[in-house]
Amino acid sequence: MDVPNNYVIDASTNTVRVHRLTLKQRLAILFIGSAKLEKIKLPSWTSSMQFYVFKCKYHGFVATYPGSFDHVLLCPMCLKNQRSEQEIRA
Ligand SMILES: [Zn+2]
Repeated sequence: MDVPNNYVIDASTNTVRVHRLTLKQRLAILFIGSAKLEKIKLPSWTSSMQFYVFKCKYHGFVATYPGSFDHVLLCPMCLKNQRSEQEIRA
């Protein structure tokens, strides 16, 4: 599956924003911390990845995929901000 209609790609961060969450997804985020979405293939990718949605305290509901080594969900926009702060400090 490419990007479903319910999602919007933010090209600057290569992230996926979710427009509407189902009640089941909202409950999963509330109790488990994240909810499983579809497998999504972003434009520059060769294959699809399993996406999850969670709530970032700064950016709201964010859809992303687990890191390849630690399988932790990190907000791509927070990571991008950290990177640009480091670039400024360097
Ligand atoms: Zn964030």
